[in-house]
Amino acid sequence: MDLEQQAKEWIKEKYKDMEMNEYQRKSIEFAIYPATHRILYPALGLAGEAGEVANKVKKFIRDGADKEAFEVKKIEIAAEIGDVLWYCANLANDLGINLSDIASENYSKLSGRSKRGTLGGDGDNR
Ligand SMILES: [Mg+2]
Repeated sequence: MDLEQQAKEWIKEKYKDMEMNEYQRKSIEFAIYPATHRILYPALGLAGEAGEVANKVKKFIRDGADKEAFEVKKIEIAAEIGDVLWYCANLANDLGINLSDIASENYSKLSGRSKRGTLGGDGDNR
């Protein structure tokens, strides 16, 4: 098994399938921020973690990587995406919305844009 396949197997084992709502429910166990800062705290954390994803990708562009290093960087970026997901789950929870509903709505929106040929361009209502 080559390195890329090993990495895929490792990721598959580490991140076993989990339903979005199950993840949301479980992630709340680790929400230790004050109730007075619901919504705000995860929104700020989401922005910070999105920055961490961008920073890791930026450094990959700057430094490059051979095939082996690329597999390591993919795992590091995946870990940051996980941090983003945690904040998404808790922000959604603070808003009283299920992650799966958000995912479904987002998919419907993008699917509609695709059918209308408006995936490109800008504006929320296209
Ligand atoms: Mg992080």
